[in-house]
Amino acid sequence: MTSNEENKAIGIDLGTTNTCVAVWQHNHVEIIPNDQGHRTTPSIVSFTNAQRLVGDAARNQVTMNPHNTIFDVKRLIGLRFQDQSVQQDMKLWPFKVVPSGPNKEKPVIVVSYKGEEKQISGEEISSMVLSKMKEVAEQYLGHAVKCAVITVPAYFNNSQRQATKDAGVIAGFNVLRIINEPTAAAIAYGLDKKSCRKGEQNVLVFDLGGGTFDVSLVTIDEGMFKVKATLGDTHLGGVDFVNKMVHHFVNVFNMKHKIDISGNARALGKLRSACEKAKRLLSSTSQAIIEIDSLAGDIDLHALVTRAAFEELNKDLFAKCMEIVEKCLVEANVHKSQVHEYVLVGGSTRIPKVQQLLKDFFNVNGKELCKSINPDEAVAYGAAVQAAILSGEGDKKLDDLLLLDVMPLSVGVESDGGFMSVVIPKNTIIPTKKKRVFSTSTDNQSSVLVKVYEGDQAMTEDNIFLGKFKLSGFPLAPRGVPEIDVSFDIDVDGILEVTAEDKTKKSKSKITITNKKGRLSPEEIRRMVRDGKMHKKEDEEFMKKVNAKNLLEKYAYEMRGKLKKLEEEVEETIEWIDTNQLAEADEFEYKKQELERDLQLL
Ligand code: ADP
Ligand code: MG
Repeated sequence: MTSNEENKAIGIDLGTTNTCVAVWQHNHVEIIPNDQGHRTTPSIVSFTNAQRLVGDAARNQVTMNPHNTIFDVKRLIGLRFQDQSVQQDMKLWPFKVVPSGPNKEKPVIVVSYKGEEKQISGEEISSMVLSKMKEVAEQYLGHAVKCAVITVPAYFNNSQRQATKDAGVIAGFNVLRIINEPTAAAIAYGLDKKSCRKGEQNVLVFDLGGGTFDVSLVTIDEGMFKVKATLGDTHLGGVDFVNKMVHHFVNVFNMKHKIDISGNARALGKLRSACEKAKRLLSSTSQAIIEIDSLAGDIDLHALVTRAAFEELNKDLFAKCMEIVEKCLVEANVHKSQVHEYVLVGGSTRIPKVQQLLKDFFNVNGKELCKSINPDEAVAYGAAVQAAILSGEGDKKLDDLLLLDVMPLSVGVESDGGFMSVVIPKNTIIPTKKKRVFSTSTDNQSSVLVKVYEGDQAMTEDNIFLGKFKLSGFPLAPRGVPEIDVSFDIDVDGILEVTAEDKTKKSKSKITITNKKGRLSPEEIRRMVRDGKMHKKEDEEFMKKVNAKNLLEKYAYEMRGKLKKLEEEVEETIEWIDTNQLAEADEFEYKKQELERDLQLL
């Protein structure tokens, strides 16, 4: 590898539904197609008795092998088992999630792989998807790739960011930076550069993906990004539009044939994939035909669906999207007339009605929405630009400007009475380091408990608990006398370390929170890296076996074909002799030569 190749960094949009990888090459961004030629890869991993499948190959396992096919892991990564959203989502998943770790805080997924039960963390599943993208990129570029920028939703907290970074490390990446998805999308459209030329830009990023909806109001000033508000619906996206269609055709079928297929998993699976295709088609044509042979018994489904009908079916969902846009503007305290740019992100924003509603809402007079980059690729596109800058390629002049991002939430410690005492306020530019001095609240107190929270509510109970630790062993003194420095250190990825230090002992009693919230320990990460390598080896061995088997099978079939042909020719020759008893010697000789030649060709 040349040093240039060694430093090559890629951008990865690790989505709930799909993952997309892009690279800066020949002075522009290239979206890297996978081995199937697809520009996005399903974020799905499936475990079977024989092998592990990732991406496109795992997709059809969702219906065939539902208990061992893992999707939606982004809804779980970095969260605690007890978290309400995990408890809610678990009810919808066909695969099993159980609590694990010393405090039973970490959710892990239970699968059966090669006949054995295995517990796998969200970080590991994501690392498998990231490994796949690494391979895809390496195949495309023709050399190893180590460095990557990975994106996360703007609302991801500290622990979710850390878990995503861990997934990258397990996959063998040097994760250069974790950046916000809306920030990446704005970078893709060069809006950071525009803010340098034209002043502060208010950018509305509308991201409607496979199963989630996020709206963010991002302000960019001289290349610095501030997420003013981010709102959404964690269960609103492409899959819901398809479900509406499925539901509709179940009713149609029932009315017409008096057969209810709502409990028939195989029929629903077929109908769902036909509706998914029709939905995509309706983004570019005005009607689509749904044709499924033998949907139930020997009865077929043949139906026409128009774009207008599709829009009518999903009217309320589309309206909901617009309501959230309005709420986001209110929260950001920005009037719609003050929005400079609207960026479309997520595969579902290809739906013309969605674009129309957004355009109408802002009453954009001849002004175009930012949609020239494929919406399901825009985030990876921006990540690739950022990756190029961080690795020293790309437009050097803007380096410094692009490196800035801000804290999405305030972080602080709990003070007496359960109050949130903010150490680093929301929207502080990162990386940053801040120190606050605390003291004891009773006389002769020999230890203090530092409880760290994230959030913007006055009471800690309404915020997110990040972790706690005890600092003890300082000299006894009246209350308020000991001076304890608590410093918060946030790195460029928004990942936090808290250290407490007793002033009298200086740096001697220093404690750092490292493993909070069911987060992976360095040993666990090392183990997972080893497992990841082992999986890769197993996959390779399996592929070797499959290839060898395919080659032999192909050869055997070819031979069978040739032998059949030869047999036919032998029969034909015998028949010819029977009917040409009176032929001349040279004719018999010619026939013999012909047969000999065919045998040689074999
Ligand atoms: P995520 O970011 O949630 O992982 P994507 O941004 O890749 O996902 O969006 C995936 C969704 O986009 C899927 O529900 C898919 O059906 C939808 N989608 C892709 N292409 C189209 C299209 N042409 N028309 C409508 N929806 C589409
Ligand atoms: Mg997305």
